[in-house]
Amino acid sequence: TGSDKGQRSAFWLESTSFFAMAASGEPGRQWQEEVAAVVVVGSCMTDLVSLTSRLPKTGETIHGHKFFIGFGGKGANQCVQAARLGAKTSMVCKIFFGCFHTATAEPNRCKRDRLTNSVRTITHLASYGKKNVPTPDLDHPKSYQEIVSALIEELDPSNLLGFFLSIYPEGNNFLWEGRTHQEWRRPRQVGKDSFGNDYIENLKQNDISTEFTYQTQDAATGTASIIVNNEGQNIIIIVAGANLLLNTEDLREAAKAISRAKVMICQLEVTPETSLEALTMAHSNGVKTLFNPAPAIADLDPRFYALSDVFCCNETEAEILTGLTVSSPADAGKAAQVLLERGCQVVIITLGAEGCVMLSQTEPVPKHIPTEKVKAVDTTGAGDSFVGALAFYLAYYPNLSLEEMLKRANFIAAVSVQAAGTQSSYPYKKDLPLDLF
Ligand code: ATP
Repeated sequence: TGSDKGQRSAFWLESTSFFAMAASGEPGRQWQEEVAAVVVVGSCMTDLVSLTSRLPKTGETIHGHKFFIGFGGKGANQCVQAARLGAKTSMVCKIFFGCFHTATAEPNRCKRDRLTNSVRTITHLASYGKKNVPTPDLDHPKSYQEIVSALIEELDPSNLLGFFLSIYPEGNNFLWEGRTHQEWRRPRQVGKDSFGNDYIENLKQNDISTEFTYQTQDAATGTASIIVNNEGQNIIIIVAGANLLLNTEDLREAAKAISRAKVMICQLEVTPETSLEALTMAHSNGVKTLFNPAPAIADLDPRFYALSDVFCCNETEAEILTGLTVSSPADAGKAAQVLLERGCQVVIITLGAEGCVMLSQTEPVPKHIPTEKVKAVDTTGAGDSFVGALAFYLAYYPNLSLEEMLKRANFIAAVSVQAAGTQSSYPYKKDLPLDLF
């Protein structure tokens, strides 16, 4: 309604001065040190990238010339960019945690939910080995361990390992110690390179709080298997896995971070229900919301618009959401107007080398913010660099005009396209001109 819009505009101004107080020092200084200013509720994905001369046909096996593993996922990308600019950040997300072997070895020390997961695994194991295994008694872990021992006797250890690999792809950093059929022994961890563990390390290395980085044994860490040919064309398969298990219960646990942030960002690589709940929580606590509707859904729930202080998408997403063609700044302005009418406070559409277009309830005439065109080496993740940088400015430089924030976000995203990779191309504060800060 009109009055709602009025209230939200007033909120924008009020929160601006509130942020200014917190960022400038007294009296918000201590508060600022303890609490993440930018909280991201979103995805972590491990990028598995193979470079080939051409893309394979169906059923064909071809040689690639290079393989690398990278850290991706829109949520984490945006969080990493904000953190590298100096924002205090927290990542609310879900990844796989390969612990069930430990649970089987030390049931007494494990939490009941871990044990339940392990028991489920054992049940699968039993059906795989076609053995008649009694249901383990969770309250008497000894009987459970006896069952494992019995299974080890029945199954060929190589089958056993193969079986674990097929259920838990990230569990393959565990091996069974000892090859005997008679004895059940504690498993040994080989390296610490499961995707989930690596991702936590990556977040920590970027100075991101992992207090609300949840772990599950029910799905693998999200992955993007990417094949890129010499022309830069690609085929990508995303398996969101654990990202889709991030739920409203997790958000309730993370409420203290979400409700005290200055800016909360979310996207659509977790379930729309989770993103919607995160936006609702932030909105009701007066936290500025930055929503990046990617990947886009044509029939996006209308509540997303009403809950977005800033709605930021690229040309393709704007086309999917509005049904309009977006191939110029003028087109983007028209699409932005349609999106604004759905209830967002500010709409931004990024346009690659053309910069972006902005529009707001207070200034409803579209404005093109051009950027200096650079020769792109790899544009992957440029949009996430832009969103992360914008969140940084919203949180730490609230007195800047939106136009100035977007000019600076354009500049930072342009730096990111001049180096290879996604997060690996994101600049740090120390590498950027001083006048951006
Ligand atoms: P991706 O999906 O690869 O993450 P995107 O399509 O979401 O990217 P773009 O609109 O292509 O995002 O680019 C985001 C921002 O990056 C642009 O608004 C612009 O600021 C910057 N940018 C991208 N390409 C260039 C370029 N060639 N020169 C200068 N800036 C660029």
